[in-house]
Amino acid sequence: MNQLPIVICGAGPAGSVLALYLAQRNIPIILFEKSSSLPIDLRASTFHPPSLEMIASLGNGVIEEILTKGLIADRYQYRDRCTDQVACFEMDLLADETPYPFRLQLEQYELTRVIGDKLRCYDNVEVRFGHRLVGYNQGLDHVDVEIETDLGIQTIRGSFLVGADGAQSQARKTSGIQYSGFTYEEKFLVVSTQFPFESVFDDLAWVNYIADPEEWCVVLRTEKIWRVLFPTDPTKHQSEDTLLSDDFIQERLHHLYNKAGDYDIGHRTLYKVNQRVAETYYKERMVLVGDACHINNPLGGMGMNGGIHDAFNLAKKLVEIVNEGADHIAKFEHYNRQRRDLAMTFIQQHTIANKQLMEATDEKIQVDRQRFLMASAADPVKAKEFLMERAMIDCVRDSEAVL
Ligand SMILES: Cc1cc2nc3c(=O)[nH]c(=O)nc-3n(C[C@H](O)[C@H](O)[C@H](O)COP(=O)(O)OP(=O)(O)OC[C@H]3O[C@@H](n4cnc5c(N)ncnc54)[C@H](O)[C@@H]3O)c2cc1C
Repeated sequence: MNQLPIVICGAGPAGSVLALYLAQRNIPIILFEKSSSLPIDLRASTFHPPSLEMIASLGNGVIEEILTKGLIADRYQYRDRCTDQVACFEMDLLADETPYPFRLQLEQYELTRVIGDKLRCYDNVEVRFGHRLVGYNQGLDHVDVEIETDLGIQTIRGSFLVGADGAQSQARKTSGIQYSGFTYEEKFLVVSTQFPFESVFDDLAWVNYIADPEEWCVVLRTEKIWRVLFPTDPTKHQSEDTLLSDDFIQERLHHLYNKAGDYDIGHRTLYKVNQRVAETYYKERMVLVGDACHINNPLGGMGMNGGIHDAFNLAKKLVEIVNEGADHIAKFEHYNRQRRDLAMTFIQQHTIANKQLMEATDEKIQVDRQRFLMASAADPVKAKEFLMERAMIDCVRDSEAVL
């Protein structure tokens, strides 16, 4: 094969779906990942309908496998613990808009594992683990990518470099692209447990946003476990050890439901929450996808989904560039307009607003919020409008319409 490969850095959800899409179009690919195998960690767990449609378009049995592994959440709830009111949004209202009118609850590593298996079947794809991007240099018609391995630094020449290397992206940093935005003062604590919350909360959905005057939280079921996300209080200046301690987590979980005895605690993760968008999504032959170019708080599950939407948008343009000779700057500029503007106007605004709504302690705001949610959920027209936005259907359509 004479054609230089497209070099993709990072085998997270964005890099993996991009690699499979391009592999299927006979484009030579090198996908490399700094970890020694596919990372398995508790991160995103919700796939929205447009992401499922895109994944289904890959064929290869990927959608069938993830639907079998995951849990179908066909409704979700906003619960107010002061009034016990529950606003329940039924996702089958989207049945005439998408073949997947639900959220698929599945750990993101399950998708990357399924795709990792598929990639092995393509001769035009090389997947390399234990390879860490340290920098790159651009030529007129190529990119020299510097990679650190156990054997030292090596250089791979590619036609383009895709930085799918997450929030700390070395591809972005090497390019000198600013990552503007802010970091919230509080960290988020995510814990998992096998405790069956569905047996103690009446009619609990698999996805629940719970407002409480003292402490809001998100309670989600994945195919294996319940996960609870709590904000931590930065004014208390507690150390990471304290926030991750059994005592602290038991107290938080008992505040959610005061069961007798201790909860079994599975995973526990404390993480910083950012709202940031890269000042540009590309620089000549280097182009960014996913967390490498936008991050946001997890309320609404738009982080990984937005990254998957980037990857499909970019993949189509890379095929036009490589297989049809389209001008790469014009295509990347279009990608930038479609995806960056959307991240600025939709994803950042929505996720910031979602968080503000959950954390409000003012009684009037809380009452108004639940009133709005109850009224929206009870009216099929308003509920559909709400779901079209929250399920990211509107924003994907809007972005595709940008010329
Ligand atoms: C603790 C936590 C919880 C989260 N919870 C949610 C949630 O509930 N909902 C939601 O929507 N989002 C959530 N997110 C965000 C979500 O996980 C990300 O949006 C998603 O993983 C982005 O996918 P990605 O492929 O762009 O990047 P990543 O998944 O970060 O993948 C990047 C890959 O690149 C590799 N890599 C990094 N640097 C290099 C390098 N120099 N060389 C080679 N490889 C490299 C990494 O090892 C990784 O495999 C969470 C994130 C964290 C950290």
